[in-house]
Amino acid sequence: MKSREDISYAKQMPVLFLGHGNPMNGIEENEFVEGFREIRKKIPKPKAVLCVSAHWETKGTFITAMDKPKTIHDFFGFPEELYQVQYPASGNQILVKEVVDLVTKTKVSLDYDWGLDHGCWVVLKRMFPDADVPVVQMSLDYSKPAQFHYDLAKELSTLREKDVLIVGSGNMVHNLGLLAWDNLDSGFGYDWAIEASDRMKKFIAKNDHQQLIDYKSQGMAFDLAIPTPEHYLPLLYVLALKEADEEITFFNDKPVAGSLTMTSLKIEH
Ligand code: ZN
Repeated sequence: MKSREDISYAKQMPVLFLGHGNPMNGIEENEFVEGFREIRKKIPKPKAVLCVSAHWETKGTFITAMDKPKTIHDFFGFPEELYQVQYPASGNQILVKEVVDLVTKTKVSLDYDWGLDHGCWVVLKRMFPDADVPVVQMSLDYSKPAQFHYDLAKELSTLREKDVLIVGSGNMVHNLGLLAWDNLDSGFGYDWAIEASDRMKKFIAKNDHQQLIDYKSQGMAFDLAIPTPEHYLPLLYVLALKEADEEITFFNDKPVAGSLTMTSLKIEH
């Protein structure tokens, strides 16, 4: 006879935080791209993806409600090949309605202008190259504190039982102003970046989410790692969905270019 835990294992989709890094990860071959492909093999095929990307910040919370979200090339100075990429995943009206109904913390407004930004498509293209899984994006309300985002995410938990893969896409350590331009391609990380990354991972492993929500009180290394919150907040969405008995697997756990980390994680029973 199956225990209750067995049943919940079978019924709950894992949750992913993906460090998306350089937009070139959408077309290049490298170890991080391989990491996205590998993690895809370890999860069931979802019915739809709900993606919270660092690159969609709004006043208020919005959700993409169009049937055919466009591919947004929201970056500058990259090779033409990257601007030619299309990721033609469809939207999903059922998921949109479910999110609107589930969230009581704030009004989730329907959006018909955005689409899929590179925080979303760069990683999903590597996991689902055929774009055969519908994708809905939810925005980050820049006017709200970290606790708001964490609490909002908790309201989405039942989507996991409906085969929805919730993806937070950002970078835990992300300071473009301090990029090591002479060391862009290596696994180099500044001391403060390594320190912040190590402490974040310890808090994550201990389920000490409050320390991560209170990231502004964690001192200099965190201040440098999170100069603006948009790449960090998707992590809080993902952690909020973790149940006490679930396990965390880190992957792509490396610094790049001094001031970024690609550290990604999977949460599942
Ligand atoms: Zn980014």
